[in-house]
Amino acid sequence: VSKTLSVSAINNGTVIDHIPAGQALRIIKLLKFSNYKNCVTIGLNLTSKGLGFKDLIKIEDRFLSAEEANEITLFAPLATINIIKNFEVIKKVTTELPKTISNIITCPNEKCITHSEPVASCFNVEQFAKHVMLICNYCEKRFDRDVYTNL
Ligand SMILES: [Zn+2]
Repeated sequence: VSKTLSVSAINNGTVIDHIPAGQALRIIKLLKFSNYKNCVTIGLNLTSKGLGFKDLIKIEDRFLSAEEANEITLFAPLATINIIKNFEVIKKVTTELPKTISNIITCPNEKCITHSEPVASCFNVEQFAKHVMLICNYCEKRFDRDVYTNL
């Protein structure tokens, strides 16, 4: 047990750790955890050996789909995702940057057809060095993931 753990342990659920400071709230919105009925604990600007500062999210009685885990890597490429049962880590989820993202974010291009037609948004995801870019499948414009300031 780490002495630096400053957020209480959970019995069953998911711990998302090593989120870059400032990104936890975007992940909460991305995965709609704010609508979730069970306890969600968020730690912001916790001290971290590797990252300097980090964010952390604990979600009780909630387990992520592989798709959701991969979506987290959009904003937290180095996040560690642990599944907890009876206060023990029973599984570490391995993640990879998703190749496509559907339905969860809207296209920043106001003229994009996705704003006027009833179609699900869809983006291809590409990584250039440390930049994660999203390319809209409809208008084909590309956006840095940091454009999504509404998340
Ligand atoms: Zn678009």
